[in-house]
Formats: sequence, structure tokens, C-alpha cells
Amino acid sequence: DVATHPAPDQPLLRIEGVAKTFGTFRAVDGVSLDIRAGEFFALLGPSGCGKTTLLRMLAGFEAPDEGRILLGGKDIAHALPHERPINMMFQSYALFPHLSVRDNIAFGPKRAGMGRADIDTRVAEMMALVKLEGLEKRKPDQLSGGQRQRVALARALARRPQLLLLDEPLAALDKKLRESTQGELMELQRRLGTTFIIVTHDQEEAMTMASRIGVMNAGKLAQVASPRELYEAPRSRWIAEFVGDVNLFDGEFKLRDGHRLVIATRDAGTLVVAEPREPTDGTRLSVAIRPEKVKLSRLGPVSEAGHETAINRLDGMVADICYLGGSTVYKVKLDTGGIVQASVANSARLDADAYSLNQHVVAWFTPDDCVVLPP
Ligand code: ATP
Repeated sequence: DVATHPAPDQPLLRIEGVAKTFGTFRAVDGVSLDIRAGEFFALLGPSGCGKTTLLRMLAGFEAPDEGRILLGGKDIAHALPHERPINMMFQSYALFPHLSVRDNIAFGPKRAGMGRADIDTRVAEMMALVKLEGLEKRKPDQLSGGQRQRVALARALARRPQLLLLDEPLAALDKKLRESTQGELMELQRRLGTTFIIVTHDQEEAMTMASRIGVMNAGKLAQVASPRELYEAPRSRWIAEFVGDVNLFDGEFKLRDGHRLVIATRDAGTLVVAEPREPTDGTRLSVAIRPEKVKLSRLGPVSEAGHETAINRLDGMVADICYLGGSTVYKVKLDTGGIVQASVANSARLDADAYSLNQHVVAWFTPDDCVVLPP
């Protein structure tokens, strides 16, 4: 096996300019990324962006055409899969249907030449880890989807890999089970301290589980950041829209006022945005604001307070209401022509929405809650 003992200041995994071309199509287009030991990292991106191909290169099922993959400082880009202290858990789980749960889990240790007694100890340990004690003799088709998923996880962990790669591991589970399994996976990862890289196209799943997320688009890493940073400071319009809901207003930079920019937007009038840096891409840019940062106030004989001193104030009319339980999303048609979405937390009020269709409202938000993005 490839020995891997990264120095304390060294990443466990270093991906350097890795590329993979199928025919003339660059599925992975020059990806560089460091993963620290013990991290729970998510590769997030739409279907076909190259996530699985990148993971397959880490596992050794695919060789990169360019670049290096260093594990603990050693180049493993061309090592065989079983020579790497890396295991991969596939989307389809790929359990052996004719083998019992025990034998599925024992498969890796057995092939690695582990003795019978040690294998029994290891299997028992893994069964306890994924809370499946008592089901050792069952065959995969006698298990529920969630149980099969846990057997696959136990099997992938049985050889105690340094790095576990998970390709859409929860895709086959229904929503409730997926959410509880997310929690279990996180707890397991913390307990073992094993480095996890998970591939998902589900941004909520990535945000929930990972401490860092790499967003992939068209074979490239678009941004690598913590869930919070990704949501609060996306680097492009594409990322802002891919990660959560967002209001985007295209406009032109007019002037600087201290650490604020004044921007004339096409659909939302003049907006003021906190931004210490100068716009780089000429004068055209976009303003992004998350729906929950947009406040609403009723207008009329008894106006709601709050908006009077707001710097960004947009008059409009409620055009659509979407009740989501914990919050309600209001689409406000602005007098300036555009639409702004405001997500308002629901109070205990049972009888009605806070605002009604066609009601005149002010949508308002602070310069600090806006993000300036390239057009
Ligand atoms: P998904 O979430 O749908 O699995 P993905 O982001 O994992 O997508 P990949 O499976 O990495 O995407 O595929 C990236 C691109 O490379 C796709 O357009 C795919 O069709 C193409 N591709 C992958 N493997 C091969 C192959 N062996 N031969 C030719 N093209 C391939």
C-alpha cells in the first residue's frame, strides 16, 4: 500500500491541475484542491459537471490525462485502486446479492489477507458502528433501502481507509430517511475521524453535512468555501443561483460613497450596496440579495414601521404567495418593473398570511445584505 503520513501542516490530499478528456470532451478541466485530514468535504454541482469523474480518478478507476494527485505527499495518480488507502462507496451500493451482510462486510478485509478471528472482530465492530447488529445473516434483498445503505457504508469502511469517497450515497433514500441518514453519516465521520469526500447535486445535503464545499461547473471548480461563505458571498451569479434562492438585479455602477457603491439597476431602481472593492468588470454588475434578507412593510392608513429609514426601499404589490410552513415567500411586483422575492418567517398566527395578494408593500433591505457580482 501507499504509505500516507502527511506532515501536520500538509494536506492529506492534494489535487494539482487534474484533467480528464473523453474523446474531445474535457469532463474535468484543470482542478486543483487541497483536502485536510479529517475533513468532511462535499463536491457539489449539476449533473454532468464532472464530479463523479473526479472521484473516480481519486479512487483509481480512471487515470488523469494531466495533473497530479498527492496523498500524504506521494503521487498516486497512477497507482491501482487497491494500492490506495482510499475506498469508494457507489451510488448503487453494489452489494453482492448472493452474500450475507457479514460476508459483504468481510469481503475487503478477507481479500487483504486478514485472518478469520480478526475479520470477525472487524465485522462486529462495523455492524455496531452502523447499528445493524443481529442482521449478519441476512441477504441484501432482505433489507430495507436504509439498511442496505448502511451495509454498503460498513463495507466501504471495513478496511479502515484514510479517505472515503461517497458518490451520491443517499440518492436512493426517501426524504425523511435521507435526512436522518445525513445525521448518522456526520456523527460516524466525527467518531472515526476518517476524511470523507461526498459527491452530491443536492445543495442542502452539501450544506448540512460538509464543513467545506467545492462547487463544480463544466469540469471546473467554481468556488471552494464553507457553506456559510458560499451562501453569503457567492463568487458569481451562477453560484448564487445554484446555492439557494436569490434575487438578482442587473445594473450599472454609478458612484462610490465611502465603502458603498451606488448602482442603477434596470428593474429595481437605484440600490446602495456595501462593497469596499472597486468593480472590476467595467461598470456593469449584478446585485444579489437573498429572499430572507428582504423585509416587507404594509403601506396604507396604518403603515408598518421599519422601512422609513431604509436605504434600499422598493415599492410594490404582492403578486404571489407561497406558504412553506416555517416561512412564506412573497413575490412582490415592483413599481420599477422587476420582481423581488421576500421570505418571511411565519409567526404562530394561524388564521392568515401576514400580507395578502395585491396589497401595497415596501420591500426593504440594508446595503450590508447585498452582494455585488460580475454581470
Ligand atoms: P451526475 O451527477 O449526473 O453523475 P457528474 O457531475 O458526476 O454527473 P460525470 O459522471 O463526472 O458527471 O460526467 C461528466 C461528463 O463526462 C458527462 O458529460 C459524461 O457524459 C462524460 N463522461 C463520463 N464518463 C465518460 C466516459 N467513460 N466516456 C465518455 N464520456 C464520459
